[in-house]
Amino acid sequence: MPRDTDTAPDDVSRREHAAAKLNLFLHVGARAPDGFHPLESLVVFTEFGDRLHLEPSKGFRLRRIGPFADALPAAAADDLTARAVTGLGELVARVPDFTVTLEKNIPVAAGMGGGSADAAAAIRLVCRTWGVPFESPDVLSLAVGLGADVPVCLYSEPAWATGVGEQITPLPGLTDLDLLLVNPRVPLATGHVFGTFTSPASLDRMLPTGVDFAAPAAFLSYLESQRNDLAEPARALCPVIDDVLSGLERQDGCRLARMSGSGPTCFGVFDDRVACERAGAAIGAANPDWWIIPTRTGQPAV
Ligand code: ATP
Repeated sequence: MPRDTDTAPDDVSRREHAAAKLNLFLHVGARAPDGFHPLESLVVFTEFGDRLHLEPSKGFRLRRIGPFADALPAAAADDLTARAVTGLGELVARVPDFTVTLEKNIPVAAGMGGGSADAAAAIRLVCRTWGVPFESPDVLSLAVGLGADVPVCLYSEPAWATGVGEQITPLPGLTDLDLLLVNPRVPLATGHVFGTFTSPASLDRMLPTGVDFAAPAAFLSYLESQRNDLAEPARALCPVIDDVLSGLERQDGCRLARMSGSGPTCFGVFDDRVACERAGAAIGAANPDWWIIPTRTGQPAV
């Protein structure tokens, strides 16, 4: 009897990693006439993330599983994953005859760009299945229409991001970082945080020169001199962020603690994986309700 390889769950070509996105810093400028704030940010992606899997079926269906599936939009059609697939189908005039399973591991509305990561991973997966280059201008404009962060998530590589996050300069030589992600399990809507933001910065918009991004010590000292401008309004809306940051800062081997995106997830940069895991265990013991993941920048091992 022939083996049904199309539905084999370990078929690598039908799987896609949707990496969590972290803003190592985030500078926010004054609101423009179009209502959006210009940004400049150094963005990295982690081994930790959501997972997508595609298998052939009659028509399109999105299955959502995993620890944070219940926090996703109630209607699957509103999920950014489904919107990416149906948008791509319309773009290339093809019927998406497959079921996509989204394993939702990234907390929702947490400042880790999970929705954008899922949309981007769906685009990569479906483009690969149909033999369409995801770098084509039409696909990139579909991506940006789904969200300003979707293009940077399409490449899932360290980048300098400006505009509203959609103008990307890759930073391929960036040193890898051991990171502890800590989320106090309080959702925080990006719109609320921007709604209370009152201290715009003046932005350089230029990739800084004279910083050795490949040298860990030099890169860390550069990061320390930067900031997340959304931390102040986010902490006002969600004071537990202060506890998360001080909890990280107290740990041995923690070189930097900062909020990512619009929060409330914070990250600690650690000396090494051992220090990172030890810190995660200590913070978890003191705060059993928090969500805590040690991870690293880069792609997961397949
Ligand atoms: P951003 O900074 O882009 O707002 P975030 O990390 O703070 O991102 P997300 O987890 O991406 O937040 O969720 C933002 C919104 O998108 C939520 O209100 C959620 O309901 C909606 N959404 C739609 N599809 C998804 C998805 N697949 N994963 C997460 N959120 C989704």
